[in-house]
Amino acid sequence: MERRGGVRGWYGKMAGAALAVTALAVGASVWTAQADAVNAGSAPQASAPAAPGGAGDVKRVSKTIVHASDAGERGVNITIDDGPDPTWTPQVLDLLREHGVKATFCVTGIQAQAHPDLVKDIVAAGHRLCDHSVSHDTAMDRKSEAYQKKEILDAERMIVEASGGVRPMYYRAPGGAFTPYSRELAASRGMRPLGWNVDTKDFEQPGADAIVATVEEEIANGPTVLFHDAGGDRSQTLDAMRRILPWLKEQGYTFGFPVR
Ligand SMILES: [Zn+2]
Repeated sequence: MERRGGVRGWYGKMAGAALAVTALAVGASVWTAQADAVNAGSAPQASAPAAPGGAGDVKRVSKTIVHASDAGERGVNITIDDGPDPTWTPQVLDLLREHGVKATFCVTGIQAQAHPDLVKDIVAAGHRLCDHSVSHDTAMDRKSEAYQKKEILDAERMIVEASGGVRPMYYRAPGGAFTPYSRELAASRGMRPLGWNVDTKDFEQPGADAIVATVEEEIANGPTVLFHDAGGDRSQTLDAMRRILPWLKEQGYTFGFPVR
């Protein structure tokens, strides 16, 4: 766990108290593995309120990679990457609506620009947006800072344009290729770096049974589950989600958003 040194004065004491409370709450959670991620994110500026408003209303968030759910210790974050896609995203949205589940959509700049109506549909249904870079370069962590900046900020602009002014609240590096620089940049734009705990590997089309089994076996590891709604035939993803959402409810899980 990252320890912050040199905290002084009243603000530091308050931040320290908040940290302690967070540590207690997380310690009681079934996901104690999340404690590091949560507490490492508690820099003083992390207490700044979220920025749900327009493009001009940008507030810094924590730059640590988040996994925790705002729905508490039995909360699950459904995250859906790489779209929007005109074939699969509407079907995913229908399925989420049927089950009353809100999710986080990590969209690329290219897909958002190509399908702005789908981005607006995502927002209108109460889901959240996440910046997934312009072109989904999974080697981004080996590229220059100028390149990373362009990929992240151009995507942010493309997503805000497509959504009609709704900002992405998270940044997920393609393939998880975060760098200290990209996390800091995203955080400065109000986009919390977003990780995952359960990789369903739906992208590899292992069969709906395998996708379901992965979630059932690994959900105890942490609350953030990774699916995809683009990049190929996602019918297995849909079949698996149709089974896994009711299963999660039966197990007492609820659905939320990643903490900011
Ligand atoms: Zn992706």
